[in-house]
Amino acid sequence: PRTIFSGIQPTGVPHLGNYLGALRQWVKLQDEASSDTTLIYSLVDLHAITIRQDPKQLRQWKKDSLAMLLAIGLDPQRSIIFHQSDVPAHAELMWILSCQASTGYLGRMTQWKDKTANEKDGSEKSKLGLFSYPVLQAADVLVHGATHVPVGHDQAQHLEFARQLANGFNEAYGKNVLMPPETLISPAKRIMSLTEPDKKMSKSHANPKSRILLTDSDDVIRSKIKSAVTDSYEGISYEPERRPGVSNLIDIFYHSGESVETESQVALAEHMAGLSLRALKEEVAMAVVEVIRPIRERYESFVRDEATLDAIAEEGARKAVASAAVTMTDVKRAVGLV
Ligand code: ATP
Ligand code: MG
Repeated sequence: PRTIFSGIQPTGVPHLGNYLGALRQWVKLQDEASSDTTLIYSLVDLHAITIRQDPKQLRQWKKDSLAMLLAIGLDPQRSIIFHQSDVPAHAELMWILSCQASTGYLGRMTQWKDKTANEKDGSEKSKLGLFSYPVLQAADVLVHGATHVPVGHDQAQHLEFARQLANGFNEAYGKNVLMPPETLISPAKRIMSLTEPDKKMSKSHANPKSRILLTDSDDVIRSKIKSAVTDSYEGISYEPERRPGVSNLIDIFYHSGESVETESQVALAEHMAGLSLRALKEEVAMAVVEVIRPIRERYESFVRDEATLDAIAEEGARKAVASAAVTMTDVKRAVGLV
């Protein structure tokens, strides 16, 4: 039997990168799962507060994100969908794993280094929660005994850390209590920012034009793609190092289209070599509009139905609490806490 676990932070409306890099795969895994597969998807609100959030805004984003998970096609009858903070075992296992986790290893994590790059040593700004974030992420996955974790490329390093923690724990306590999970990376590894194509598209980036939201109207999508940063080289080609902006547009087109299994990005670029940048952008915008429109329309109806959203969250929490309890009993016994 397989257990699939993944999470998304309720730090804003999910964007095209989240969808192509992670969420689309969540739905695919759900729709293709056999009956002995358990699917668990979390809105990881405890992760969201590693960066200061406005409480009112966070509450709203939690609702919006839940509506979005339904809009993309997750089915609460089939998948457990819940808010992380409704299941205290995540934080509890995090503490136990923290007593195993090496601070040196955590300090070398790219995401930590990126987010604190502009701070001097000993800065008051760096918070312990942001530093230990990967331990909570490990707990998320391990507390449900996940065997497979679909994430975007930016999370691969954190999952390697989760495997090491699981193996370390099992060795220390001489039992196979925690399951080291496998990473499933989506074919759309990393969708880049439209305004700074050397950075990944992110919910939390300051510039709203850097990302296409799954709630954007057709016109907004077209205008964001039209103003995407490219370059002044001749023609169209797929060269991510030399031409990050153009290559990102080709990536987006490739993963938004139907041709995913038949052509490579390079072949696709050759196919379009004669187009102007403007025409390329129009093609890309058309494909993206088709991907997002049905999601946006479903979202608009789900997000209005607060009673249903609350009921789904409650039911998801109940199931997730039960799932986590199985591992926590074993962990506490192994450590000597019970
Ligand atoms: P934040 O800026 O708040 O961290 P985010 O856009 O990075 O937001 P997350 O909630 O951290 O989104 O990640 C949710 C999932 O989306 C993860 O599996 C992550 O790997 C994936 N993901 C995030 N950004 C991208 C991207 N640009 N391309 C592909 N996958 C992505
Ligand atoms: Mg992120």
